[in-house]
Amino acid sequence: MEKIELRGCSENELIEICQKIGLKRFRAIQLFQWVQQKAVRSWADIKNISKSDLETLSNHLHFSVLNKVREQRSKDGTRKYLFRLEDGETIECVLMDYARLKARDRHTICVSTQVGCPVGCAFCATGLEGFKRNLSAAEIISQVLDISQDIQQEDPDFQVTNIVFMGMGEPMLNYDQVLKSIRVLNQAQGLNIGMRRMTISTSGVVPKIIQLAKDNSQVGLAVSLHAADDSTRDKLIPMNRRYPLSELMEACREYSRITHRRITFEVALTADNSKPAEAEALARLLKGQLGHVNLIPVNPVVGTGMERPSQEKIVKFAQVLEDAGISVSSREERGTDIDAACGQLRRQWEGKLV
Ligand code: SAH
Ligand code: SF4
Repeated sequence: MEKIELRGCSENELIEICQKIGLKRFRAIQLFQWVQQKAVRSWADIKNISKSDLETLSNHLHFSVLNKVREQRSKDGTRKYLFRLEDGETIECVLMDYARLKARDRHTICVSTQVGCPVGCAFCATGLEGFKRNLSAAEIISQVLDISQDIQQEDPDFQVTNIVFMGMGEPMLNYDQVLKSIRVLNQAQGLNIGMRRMTISTSGVVPKIIQLAKDNSQVGLAVSLHAADDSTRDKLIPMNRRYPLSELMEACREYSRITHRRITFEVALTADNSKPAEAEALARLLKGQLGHVNLIPVNPVVGTGMERPSQEKIVKFAQVLEDAGISVSSREERGTDIDAACGQLRRQWEGKLV
């Protein structure tokens, strides 16, 4: 019989398993708390459940954790982790801006959802590496648990408050496991992270945007737009050929209609796509859409040929949007001194250029 991944189990699933193997319901709740709230890394760390009960449980549940291969710390407090999975694959995740956000009691972790990514965007280090496999819900949750555990060793009060699904991979192409991880991370006896404090970022998988709106109206949505015309977007995000801008924007309108939530539109600015005329086209595209634009100067990755625009160009781009009445912010550059653009640390570690 194949064992079930312990860290991917909801409280109810553990209750069912315990009932099946003759253990009391409260044991399941205790176990869920040890795993999710206390982030223990082995059966031996669980203290108030008897050895024989733990042994019975371990016959049915597989307890796997992530192993830290590397950690980089940026001057602004951003920490980037490279973790090894059980099958030897590696993934990156990031604790954002630890020092500054700590003062605001806000701790955001950026998690990966796949090993590699099948979308293959022109500017992305993850996309350059191709696609290996989807992560399980347990592997997604483990990134949050193992970073929390790591930080708690120096800061016992550390509690993660926000999660963004913006690491390696396209979350909407691993929809079921991503949604499962969100449900578990949200549970009251677990980390109890509010649905509204979790955000999925997508390159534009149209049917899944609609499904997300229908399945769960509370999770935040970020759409990686990057260009306001199909021919530019086709070159940056190959997915655009399958789901062109007209369909994507229709799905966004539907999402906002159902959820009443504002979408964040991510726009990575390169030296090429940051002309005022492109800002004007973007303003036209987003007219009447409940949303907010986040401008990100592209992180140059060797092999992509993408360059950053000047600060002056970024300010001008933002001004055009503002003048058109569109809410806009410029992403503060986090962790650029540690290659925080996802996929770069893994590439570097695996001996490829960054
Ligand atoms: N696959 C999803 C989520 C992961 S990528 C998506 O594409 O939305 C998270 C964000 O980082 C996306 O907005 C993506 O476009 C952006 N990104 C990827 N590589 C980048 C780079 N080199 N510089 C700036 N942003 C980048
Ligand atoms: Fe995949 Fe997102 Fe990178 Fe595109 S930007 S290749 S969708 S991870």
